[in-house]
Amino acid sequence: MRKKIVAGNWKMNTTLQEGLALAKGLNEALKDKTPKCDVIVGTPFTHLACVADAIDTNKIGVAAQNCADHEKGAYTGEVSAAMVASTGAKYVILGHSERRQYYGETAEILKTKVNLALANGLTPIFCIGEVLEEREAGKHFDVVDEQIKGSLFDLSAEDFGKIVIAYEPVWAIGTGKTATADQAQEIHAHIRKTIASKYEQTIADNCSILYGGSMNAGNAKELVSKPDVDGGLIGGASLSVENFMPIVEAF
Ligand code: PEP
Repeated sequence: MRKKIVAGNWKMNTTLQEGLALAKGLNEALKDKTPKCDVIVGTPFTHLACVADAIDTNKIGVAAQNCADHEKGAYTGEVSAAMVASTGAKYVILGHSERRQYYGETAEILKTKVNLALANGLTPIFCIGEVLEEREAGKHFDVVDEQIKGSLFDLSAEDFGKIVIAYEPVWAIGTGKTATADQAQEIHAHIRKTIASKYEQTIADNCSILYGGSMNAGNAKELVSKPDVDGGLIGGASLSVENFMPIVEAF
Protein backbone atom coordinates (compact mmCIF):
# COMPACT_ATOMS: atom_id res chain seq x y z
CA MET A 1 0.00 0.00 0.00
CA ARG A 2 1.34 3.41 -0.89
CA LYS A 3 1.90 5.99 1.78
CA LYS A 4 -0.35 8.98 2.37
CA ILE A 5 1.79 12.07 2.92
CA VAL A 6 1.24 15.70 3.84
CA ALA A 7 4.43 17.72 3.37
CA GLY A 8 4.96 21.39 4.10
CA ASN A 9 7.21 23.51 1.91
CA TRP A 10 8.15 26.56 3.93
CA LYS A 11 10.10 28.04 1.00
CA MET A 12 12.25 31.05 1.98
CA ASN A 13 10.11 31.88 5.00
CA THR A 14 10.81 32.00 8.74
CA THR A 15 13.95 32.95 10.62
CA LEU A 16 15.57 30.09 12.52
CA GLN A 17 13.71 31.11 15.67
CA GLU A 18 10.36 31.36 13.89
CA GLY A 19 10.92 28.06 12.11
CA LEU A 20 11.82 26.29 15.34
CA ALA A 21 8.70 27.66 17.01
CA LEU A 22 6.57 26.47 14.07
CA ALA A 23 8.12 23.00 14.13
CA LYS A 24 7.72 22.71 17.89
CA GLY A 25 4.11 23.88 17.62
CA LEU A 26 3.40 21.19 15.06
CA ASN A 27 5.18 18.62 17.21
CA GLU A 28 2.98 19.60 20.15
CA ALA A 29 -0.19 19.46 18.05
CA LEU A 30 0.67 15.93 16.93
CA LYS A 31 1.90 14.71 20.31
CA ASP A 32 -1.16 12.72 21.33
CA LYS A 33 -2.37 11.99 17.83
CA THR A 34 -1.75 9.24 15.33
CA PRO A 35 -2.16 10.91 11.96
CA LYS A 36 -3.39 8.75 9.10
CA CYS A 37 -0.61 10.12 6.91
CA ASP A 38 3.12 10.76 7.11
CA VAL A 39 3.82 14.38 8.04
CA ILE A 40 6.87 16.22 6.67
CA VAL A 41 8.19 19.75 7.04
CA GLY A 42 10.39 21.20 4.29
CA THR A 43 12.51 23.85 5.96
CA PRO A 44 15.30 26.15 4.76
CA PHE A 45 18.77 24.55 4.94
CA THR A 46 19.69 26.69 7.95
CA HIS A 47 16.88 25.15 10.02
CA LEU A 48 17.26 21.47 9.20
CA ALA A 49 19.50 20.27 12.03
CA CYS A 50 17.79 22.33 14.75
CA VAL A 51 14.31 21.30 13.62
CA ALA A 52 15.30 17.63 13.37
CA ASP A 53 16.69 17.89 16.92
CA ALA A 54 13.64 19.65 18.36
CA ILE A 55 10.88 17.36 17.12
CA ASP A 56 9.89 13.73 17.27
CA THR A 57 11.25 12.61 13.91
CA ASN A 58 9.31 9.38 14.20
CA LYS A 59 6.22 11.52 13.78
CA ILE A 60 7.42 14.36 11.59
CA GLY A 61 9.93 13.90 8.80
CA VAL A 62 12.27 16.73 7.84
CA ALA A 63 12.92 17.73 4.24
CA ALA A 64 15.33 20.08 2.53
CA GLN A 65 13.98 22.09 -0.39
CA ASN A 66 16.93 21.48 -2.68
CA CYS A 67 20.41 19.98 -2.81
CA ALA A 68 23.46 20.49 -4.98
CA ASP A 69 24.06 18.72 -8.28
CA HIS A 70 27.62 17.91 -7.22
CA GLU A 71 28.84 15.53 -4.59
CA LYS A 72 31.27 17.86 -2.79
CA GLY A 73 34.05 20.37 -3.32
CA ALA A 74 34.55 23.86 -4.70
CA TYR A 75 30.93 24.93 -5.20
CA THR A 76 30.67 27.96 -2.96
CA GLY A 77 27.28 28.40 -1.37
CA GLU A 78 25.95 24.98 -2.31
CA VAL A 79 24.64 22.32 0.07
CA SER A 80 25.21 18.68 -0.84
CA ALA A 81 22.84 15.76 -0.43
CA ALA A 82 25.30 14.25 2.08
CA MET A 83 25.19 17.47 4.12
CA VAL A 84 21.38 17.43 4.09
CA ALA A 85 21.34 13.80 5.21
CA SER A 86 23.81 14.57 8.01
CA THR A 87 21.30 16.97 9.61
CA GLY A 88 18.75 14.24 10.23
CA ALA A 89 16.60 15.19 7.24
CA LYS A 90 15.20 12.19 5.40
CA TYR A 91 13.65 13.92 2.38
CA VAL A 92 14.55 16.48 -0.23
CA ILE A 93 12.12 18.41 -2.43
CA LEU A 94 13.54 18.47 -5.98
CA GLY A 95 12.36 20.08 -9.19
CA HIS A 96 10.00 22.58 -7.60
CA SER A 97 8.70 24.91 -10.31
CA GLU A 98 10.37 27.86 -8.57
CA ARG A 99 13.73 26.10 -8.88
CA ARG A 100 13.06 25.24 -12.52
CA GLN A 101 11.85 28.76 -13.34
CA TYR A 102 14.17 31.03 -11.31
CA TYR A 103 17.31 28.89 -11.13
CA GLY A 104 17.25 27.19 -14.51
CA GLU A 105 17.06 23.65 -13.21
CA THR A 106 16.81 21.39 -16.24
CA ALA A 107 15.73 17.77 -16.47
CA GLU A 108 19.41 16.80 -16.70
CA ILE A 109 20.42 18.77 -13.58
CA LEU A 110 17.47 17.29 -11.71
CA LYS A 111 18.43 13.79 -12.77
CA THR A 112 21.83 14.33 -11.16
CA LYS A 113 20.24 15.73 -7.99
CA VAL A 114 17.83 12.79 -7.74
CA ASN A 115 20.73 10.34 -8.09
CA LEU A 116 22.79 12.12 -5.43
CA ALA A 117 19.80 12.30 -3.07
CA LEU A 118 19.16 8.57 -3.42
CA ALA A 119 22.85 7.74 -3.04
CA ASN A 120 22.78 9.58 0.27
CA GLY A 121 19.67 7.84 1.57
CA LEU A 122 17.30 10.75 1.02
CA THR A 123 13.81 10.33 -0.38
CA PRO A 124 13.27 12.78 -3.24
CA ILE A 125 9.88 14.51 -3.39
CA PHE A 126 10.02 15.19 -7.10
CA CYS A 127 7.83 18.05 -8.35
CA ILE A 128 6.29 18.18 -11.81
CA GLY A 129 3.56 20.30 -13.34
CA GLU A 130 2.55 22.46 -16.24
CA VAL A 131 2.21 26.24 -16.61
CA LEU A 132 -1.12 27.83 -17.47
CA GLU A 133 -0.50 28.14 -21.21
CA GLU A 134 0.38 24.45 -21.39
CA ARG A 135 -2.82 23.49 -19.56
CA GLU A 136 -4.89 25.74 -21.79
CA ALA A 137 -3.28 24.20 -24.87
CA GLY A 138 -4.12 20.72 -23.56
CA LYS A 139 -0.42 19.84 -23.23
CA HIS A 140 -0.38 19.10 -19.50
CA PHE A 141 -0.24 15.32 -19.91
CA ASP A 142 2.75 15.56 -22.26
CA VAL A 143 4.51 18.07 -20.01
CA VAL A 144 4.40 15.87 -16.92
CA ASP A 145 5.39 12.81 -18.96
CA GLU A 146 8.46 14.63 -20.26
CA GLN A 147 9.41 15.83 -16.77
CA ILE A 148 9.16 12.30 -15.38
CA LYS A 149 10.95 10.66 -18.29
CA GLY A 150 13.66 13.32 -18.45
CA SER A 151 14.76 13.00 -14.83
CA LEU A 152 13.52 9.71 -13.42
CA PHE A 153 13.25 7.03 -16.09
CA ASP A 154 16.93 6.09 -15.97
CA LEU A 155 16.42 4.89 -12.40
CA SER A 156 16.32 1.21 -11.60
CA ALA A 157 12.92 -0.09 -10.50
CA GLU A 158 14.28 -0.36 -6.98
CA ASP A 159 15.34 3.29 -6.92
CA PHE A 160 12.18 4.52 -8.64
CA GLY A 161 10.28 2.80 -5.85
CA LYS A 162 11.83 5.28 -3.40
CA ILE A 163 10.55 8.39 -5.20
CA VAL A 164 7.58 10.48 -4.09
CA ILE A 165 6.00 12.56 -6.86
CA ALA A 166 4.30 15.90 -6.30
CA TYR A 167 2.06 17.07 -9.12
CA GLU A 168 1.97 20.85 -8.82
CA PRO A 169 0.27 22.80 -11.61
CA VAL A 170 2.28 26.01 -11.71
CA TRP A 171 -0.89 28.07 -12.21
CA ALA A 172 -2.15 26.84 -8.84
CA ILE A 173 0.97 27.53 -6.77
CA GLY A 174 0.53 30.46 -4.41
CA THR A 175 -2.35 31.80 -6.51
CA GLY A 176 -5.32 30.66 -4.45
CA LYS A 177 -6.49 28.89 -7.60
CA THR A 178 -6.66 25.13 -6.97
CA ALA A 179 -7.05 22.36 -9.49
CA THR A 180 -10.43 20.75 -8.99
CA ALA A 181 -10.40 17.35 -7.35
CA ASP A 182 -11.44 15.87 -10.71
CA GLN A 183 -8.60 17.62 -12.55
CA ALA A 184 -6.13 16.35 -9.94
CA GLN A 185 -7.50 12.80 -10.12
CA GLU A 186 -7.37 12.80 -13.91
CA ILE A 187 -3.70 13.76 -14.13
CA HIS A 188 -2.59 11.71 -11.11
CA ALA A 189 -4.12 8.62 -12.75
CA HIS A 190 -2.31 9.56 -15.96
CA ILE A 191 1.01 9.91 -14.10
CA ARG A 192 0.51 6.50 -12.53
CA LYS A 193 -0.14 5.03 -15.98
CA THR A 194 3.04 6.63 -17.31
CA ILE A 195 5.01 5.06 -14.45
CA ALA A 196 3.39 1.68 -15.14
CA SER A 197 4.37 1.94 -18.80
CA LYS A 198 8.05 1.94 -17.80
CA TYR A 199 8.12 0.02 -14.53
CA GLU A 200 5.79 -2.66 -13.20
CA GLN A 201 2.20 -1.92 -12.24
CA THR A 202 3.06 -2.61 -8.59
CA ILE A 203 5.75 0.11 -8.69
CA ALA A 204 3.17 2.54 -10.07
CA ASP A 205 0.57 1.44 -7.54
CA ASN A 206 3.01 1.91 -4.67
CA CYS A 207 4.19 5.38 -5.74
CA SER A 208 2.77 8.20 -3.60
CA ILE A 209 1.61 11.06 -5.83
CA LEU A 210 0.91 14.27 -3.92
CA TYR A 211 -1.05 17.25 -5.15
CA GLY A 212 0.34 20.75 -4.61
CA GLY A 213 -1.12 24.14 -5.43
CA SER A 214 -3.12 26.27 -3.01
CA MET A 215 -4.21 23.25 -1.00
CA ASN A 216 -5.77 24.34 2.27
CA ALA A 217 -8.09 23.37 5.11
CA GLY A 218 -11.10 24.05 2.90
CA ASN A 219 -10.23 21.92 -0.13
CA ALA A 220 -7.90 19.22 1.25
CA LYS A 221 -10.60 16.69 2.15
CA GLU A 222 -12.11 16.64 -1.32
CA LEU A 223 -8.71 16.45 -3.03
CA VAL A 224 -7.41 13.57 -0.92
CA SER A 225 -10.70 11.69 -1.25
CA LYS A 226 -9.68 10.93 -4.85
CA PRO A 227 -8.15 7.48 -5.30
CA ASP A 228 -4.91 8.62 -6.96
CA VAL A 229 -4.31 11.69 -4.77
CA ASP A 230 -2.10 10.43 -1.97
CA GLY A 231 -1.63 13.66 -0.08
CA GLY A 232 -0.34 17.16 -0.54
CA LEU A 233 2.70 19.37 -0.86
CA ILE A 234 1.67 22.52 0.93
CA GLY A 235 3.24 25.96 0.62
CA GLY A 236 1.39 28.89 2.19
CA ALA A 237 -0.83 26.81 4.45
CA SER A 238 2.17 25.04 5.99
CA LEU A 239 3.36 28.23 7.67
CA SER A 240 1.03 27.99 10.63
CA VAL A 241 -0.04 25.05 12.77
CA GLU A 242 -3.67 26.21 12.56
CA ASN A 243 -3.68 26.03 8.78
CA PHE A 244 -1.50 22.94 8.39
CA MET A 245 -3.13 20.61 10.92
CA PRO A 246 -6.56 20.46 9.22
CA ILE A 247 -4.79 19.28 6.05
CA VAL A 248 -2.98 16.56 8.02
CA GLU A 249 -6.35 15.63 9.50
CA ALA A 250 -8.07 15.56 6.11
CA PHE A 251 -7.35 11.81 5.88
C1 PEP B 1 4.30 24.83 -3.31
O1 PEP B 1 5.00 25.78 -3.58
O2 PEP B 1 4.79 23.70 -3.29
C2 PEP B 1 2.88 25.07 -3.06
C3 PEP B 1 2.05 24.08 -3.26
O3 PEP B 1 2.53 26.33 -2.66
P1 PEP B 1 1.07 26.82 -2.24
O4 PEP B 1 0.45 25.76 -1.37
O5 PEP B 1 1.28 28.10 -1.50
O6 PEP B 1 0.29 27.02 -3.50
